[in-house]
Amino acid sequence: MVKAEGVHKSFGAAHILKGIDLEVAPREVFCLIGPSGSGKSTFLRCINHLEKVNAGRLSVDGELVGYREHNGKLYELRDKEVAARRRDIGMVFQRFNLFPHMTAVENIMEAPIQVKGESKGAARERATKLLDRVGLADKAGNYPSQLSGGQQQRVAIARALAMEPKLMLFDEPTSALDPELVGDVLDVMKDLAADGMTMIVVTHEMGFAREVGDSLVFMDDGVVVESGHPRDVLGNPQHERTKSFLSKVL
Ligand code: ADP
Ligand code: MG
Repeated sequence: MVKAEGVHKSFGAAHILKGIDLEVAPREVFCLIGPSGSGKSTFLRCINHLEKVNAGRLSVDGELVGYREHNGKLYELRDKEVAARRRDIGMVFQRFNLFPHMTAVENIMEAPIQVKGESKGAARERATKLLDRVGLADKAGNYPSQLSGGQQQRVAIARALAMEPKLMLFDEPTSALDPELVGDVLDVMKDLAADGMTMIVVTHEMGFAREVGDSLVFMDDGVVVESGHPRDVLGNPQHERTKSFLSKVL
């Protein structure tokens, strides 16, 4: 579903991604861990067309991110084409980013109506089902300010799912939450994983990675240091940098 081959990204003189190679299979829960500043968010943003890679190949579902291939030549995607590709990718951020002037159900209805031209009735029906799925059927009429952080994050997940993405990106979805609210969000993610969603999850929740992850990558300073099954990487890290990081977070 995602393939990175020698992906590089710089911001000016700052070389952030220094040749990332990895593959995410369909239906896989792929966990990405690493110290702050190692480039995890930048990598997710490249997958989601929010940043352009400087070198290497990055593809989602067999299509190069940002380019169209035709007769062996590469053409940069136009804005409309980028928008179409981005529809297939859901992203959930550390901060919930809900529209503050819309209720929970309206937040979820917004993209299907605006982007897909879905009818209000159909969008509401779908949004209601999604709210139920994330355990918030009774909060449809609440504004974000009337929801806890964990509830807002579950609405944000439902909002991403409303576009029926084939890939979900989670960038530290529980890092901004009070500890007692983390479990409900992780439960929603587990449910999604059990349902076969392909997910890339940047997280510091090692319990989630161990229990739900199919593979895990430890990234440091813009490179993949170590990867494998979460049980192996977390239980028996091979590299000094991985050991040192895990000793701080476990
Ligand atoms: P992580 O998510 O692993 O904490 P990030 O991908 O957010 O790391 O950031 C990696 C590095 O890239 C940081 O040093 C950050 O300051 C830098 N960076 C990220 N985005 C930009 C940007 N738009 N312009 C300049 N530097 C950036
Ligand atoms: Mg980050």
